[in-house]
Amino acid sequence: MDFQKLVDVYEELEQTSSGNALREILSTFFKTVPKEDIAMISYLTLGQITSEYESVVLGMAEKMVLKAIASASGNDIAKVQKIMQETGDVGLTAEKVLQKKPRTLVPVGKLTVQELFDTLQKIADASGTGSQDRKTNLLVSLLQKSSPQGAKYISRIVLGTLRMGVGDMTVLDALAIAFTGEKKNKEYLEKAYNICPDVGVIAETIAHKGLKGLEKIDVHVGRPIKMMLAQRVKSWEEIQKKMPGKVAAEGKYDGERVQAHRDKKGRISLFSRRLENITDQFPDLVEYLQKQITAKEYVIEGEVIAVDEKGKLLPFQTLMQRRRKYDVEEYVQKIPVQIKLFDLLFVNGESYIHEPYEKRIAQLANIVKKSKHVVLADQLISDDHTEINRFFQNMVKEGDEGIMIKNLEGEYQAGTRGWNWIKWKKEYVKEMVDTFDLVVVGAFHGRGRRSGTYGALLCAAYNKKKDQFETVCKLGTGLTDEMLTELPKMLAKYKVNTKPARVMVKKEMEPDVWFDPKVVVEVLAAEITKSPFHALGLALRFPRFIRYREDKNAEQATTTKEIQEMAGK
Ligand code: ATP
Repeated sequence: MDFQKLVDVYEELEQTSSGNALREILSTFFKTVPKEDIAMISYLTLGQITSEYESVVLGMAEKMVLKAIASASGNDIAKVQKIMQETGDVGLTAEKVLQKKPRTLVPVGKLTVQELFDTLQKIADASGTGSQDRKTNLLVSLLQKSSPQGAKYISRIVLGTLRMGVGDMTVLDALAIAFTGEKKNKEYLEKAYNICPDVGVIAETIAHKGLKGLEKIDVHVGRPIKMMLAQRVKSWEEIQKKMPGKVAAEGKYDGERVQAHRDKKGRISLFSRRLENITDQFPDLVEYLQKQITAKEYVIEGEVIAVDEKGKLLPFQTLMQRRRKYDVEEYVQKIPVQIKLFDLLFVNGESYIHEPYEKRIAQLANIVKKSKHVVLADQLISDDHTEINRFFQNMVKEGDEGIMIKNLEGEYQAGTRGWNWIKWKKEYVKEMVDTFDLVVVGAFHGRGRRSGTYGALLCAAYNKKKDQFETVCKLGTGLTDEMLTELPKMLAKYKVNTKPARVMVKKEMEPDVWFDPKVVVEVLAAEITKSPFHALGLALRFPRFIRYREDKNAEQATTTKEIQEMAGK
């Protein structure tokens, strides 16, 4: 397919401020895309060249892209930099400069989506000496072959700032409409996506094999599975009602969730809650798993916690220091970790994802040789709620968050907050409202002591059904002076000029600055009240910033449905 066709769609997407229109434009376009291009086009629309979990970076800095624009247009760099100062955006700079390209530089043929994709791959692959020049030259060739508008989008893709307002769920919606004729079939695409969170694979499968093909998608070692989540309840009685009879209770540890994959060749990959590959952060854990897990091939899950010399739990903040790219070895020594294993999804060629909890956990116990660093989560199987409550008290005494209650017959519901797992946290007992994980969608300029930074952040919950972000609070409390100073810099890369299409906000709450919905913050609130000022119709009262949830992406934020349920709506 001619890349210009995709460019025309991008131009349309850029003009729209409604989520429904995004889906409409995309699905109409997908119907015209040749099957062999659909995966590439799905990735490119998300500003990627592969699934997000593969974390491929094109590795181009703004300076290099400007240099490529100068070279492709036959201008000197000073002129390009001047236009960059005027526009403030590399994409617009490329478009503007290339519109005025001297006539002597004739276009060199048409750029196809395949060629763009292959060249972007080469840019990503280039490493070592001379790689910066090679990347720049490859980009020059792309810019020369595309239209000025095409150059705008290519420049943004290589910088990782495409931001069409489209998320994975938007693409799934559009694929469902385009290839099955009905939006409600997205349910089947989402089910497959939860086991295989790779938009390209889903797009290719639905295009070539239809819904039947999607049903066959199963666990694939090395490809992360969206993690199963827990429901919350308001009272202990509700647990008994939702899960009568015998249940399993496990400790709920406050650490980092890790999904560990080991393939037949012995390679271990570790994935975080947001499916990032975090193997390099935990070389110690990789080593422990190699020694302590007896199966050749597996996918298992657990919570990684920081422990002291004696194996005693250290606070979550201490563990967070292990989230680093540099000085990893030093921190392996400084902050030892332990993994509390609690699930098994695949072992030696067999998928366990649809097997009951009891069978999964028994198989897990079979393959774990316990040690100081690799243990099974504390567990109690009982139907006696006095006993379960005692277990909960003990867990809290040991410094854990509370307990998880699991349905013995329940399968692993990938990517779903279903009723097979219920969490019971110490905060619930104190009758405190739970914390919320919200997405930052905007900010208000600060005044007085906060001038020069933001005074408050506009935060939203995720409406999963409608694939949109609905505001629920203005957050200003709980941020330290140091954090406030850092905020504009930290959020700069998500800043956009207009309201992102999937963000829903009431006129009264329109912020001074908009952000692409990416950053997730954990917020504690006193209560949930009705509000005409927030898109959800509900607002969090006295919200207080607790911490950044770097382990969650925007679509993993607290949902509007959860907030409605908590408010008793
Ligand atoms: P929270 O902020 O309450 O942890 P969450 O949205 O991150 O919520 P939930 O599904 O609500 O996730 O709670 C489950 C989380 O608790 C898991 O993601 C995992 O990180 C952690 N956890 C700790 N111990 C266990 C356990 N034994 N079984 C499952 N999850 C556990």
